[in-house]
Amino acid sequence: MKKESICLHGGYKPKTGEANVIPIYQSTTYAYDTPEEMAHLFDVPKDGHIYTRISNPTTAAFEEKLALLEGGVASMMTSSGQAATLVTVLTVASAGDNIIAFPTLYGGTFNLLKVTLAKMGIECRFIKPGMTDKEIEGLIDDRTKLMFGETVANPAMVVFDFDRYSAICKKHGLLLAVDNTLATPVLVTPFKYGVNVVVHSTTKYLDGHAVAVGGMIVDGGNFEFRNNPRYTDFVTPDESYHGTVYVDEGGPAAFALKARMQYMRDIGVSPSPFNAFLANLGTETLHLRMKQHSANALEIAKKLKANPHVSWVRYCGLEDDPNYPLAKKYFEGGFGGMVCFGVKGGRAKAADFIRNLKMIRQLTHIADSRTCVLHPASTTHRQLSDKELIDCGISEDFIRLSVGLENAEDIYADIEQSLAK
Ligand SMILES: *Cc1c(COP(=O)(O)O)cnc(C)c1O
Repeated sequence: MKKESICLHGGYKPKTGEANVIPIYQSTTYAYDTPEEMAHLFDVPKDGHIYTRISNPTTAAFEEKLALLEGGVASMMTSSGQAATLVTVLTVASAGDNIIAFPTLYGGTFNLLKVTLAKMGIECRFIKPGMTDKEIEGLIDDRTKLMFGETVANPAMVVFDFDRYSAICKKHGLLLAVDNTLATPVLVTPFKYGVNVVVHSTTKYLDGHAVAVGGMIVDGGNFEFRNNPRYTDFVTPDESYHGTVYVDEGGPAAFALKARMQYMRDIGVSPSPFNAFLANLGTETLHLRMKQHSANALEIAKKLKANPHVSWVRYCGLEDDPNYPLAKKYFEGGFGGMVCFGVKGGRAKAADFIRNLKMIRQLTHIADSRTCVLHPASTTHRQLSDKELIDCGISEDFIRLSVGLENAEDIYADIEQSLAK
């Protein structure tokens, strides 16, 4: 099936007489007749469900849909996008290890990697803008377990150079994980370009209606953990899970199996089945929505460029945008809904712009069907120093605009009247 059809049919096919739509299995537990059946599931968890912290039928249907959309072999939903990133890191790294990431990452991810992981003894080494391949390779040592990037870094709108970074990771036998939240699998398929693990905040475009926080980890099944000294715990028995060897038991889905059976089991960042149902429902129309988000955003970006009150515009779909060459290479069928721009007059005028909007809402959210705005310097990124702000690609006048599905003329009319004020 193509992506449009997967959005609607992926992950669930009713048998005769069963519900047309995946039911909400709002149950913590699953009953079995014999001890042998239950024992079998402890050995081979993919054959059924035991306890909703570990898996659930509604959630599993959505997980399978995402694995199909991304072209991966397995996936695991988490209670939030933050949890998906945390579990991804913990599946490969423990105290004393390090990972490599980009300072332009989403603010929540940046803080998780820089501050909270450090408290757990995992160091995050950041790739500074302008570093050469050699300098990046200089960050990698024996204890480096992961490179983490974002397809489009929010809010700086930097497009990930998949070919460049996956070549570095391949050379060093290093796992590459990418947050594909803002592009979604409808516009970009990271596994095609050498990525090994994809994470999502399903809270954003997948849900699309701002109703359920959630995350997803998708395993590309394309990483060789055998004969790689970085990942010995994938090939040695896990005594905490009755001696399972993840590459033997999980095959190509070894990463997803370890993420679920070690970290979801122990940390319990599991989604509610109801939230899985909502995110799955949203994803049914993802293909349609991404087309319209992209068309509206391109139109708004062009108009903003011509507006005398705007000092600069960043949208990777504009042909003169510095990220356009990369976006053109990796995006298919549109460039997404995120547009950033600067309001002439700096911090105070940027705040006034938000104050004077009528239809467009100020929200700590993006990728909703309704257009929303935020001024990162005074909200999501307020904990950062001025220097860190600049490293993240954010200036004082920076407005993050998530273009929704309203009529594009209505969206621009609201922006225009506020800028004029
Ligand atoms: C929102 C977001 C996250 C965090 O996801 P939550 O669901 O809010 O925990 C991670 N990455 C990106 C790109 C996001 O936009």
